[in-house]
Amino acid sequence: MGKIKIDKERCKGCLLCIGVCPKGLMVQAKELNRRGVKPAEQKETDAQSCSGCALCAIICPDCCIEVYR
Ligand code: SF4
Ligand code: SF4
Repeated sequence: MGKIKIDKERCKGCLLCIGVCPKGLMVQAKELNRRGVKPAEQKETDAQSCSGCALCAIICPDCCIEVYR
């Protein structure tokens, strides 16, 4: 099981991580960050949902996602 941490203020809103998550756990936030884009965030999930596969972190061009497992 995994846990991720997204640096939402650095996220540029490219949304690549949303498409790549095999569990469909990534969504776009409703609020803008200080860059003026809506960043990625993880859905409200239970502790079992995220596998910690790290695909979201690997695809992020700006290394905004850290994975813990
Ligand atoms: S680590 Fe894997 S399962 Fe968890 S949010 Fe990222 S892509 Fe989805
Ligand atoms: S891939 Fe990185 S920069 Fe792109 S939306 Fe996801 S967290 Fe933000």
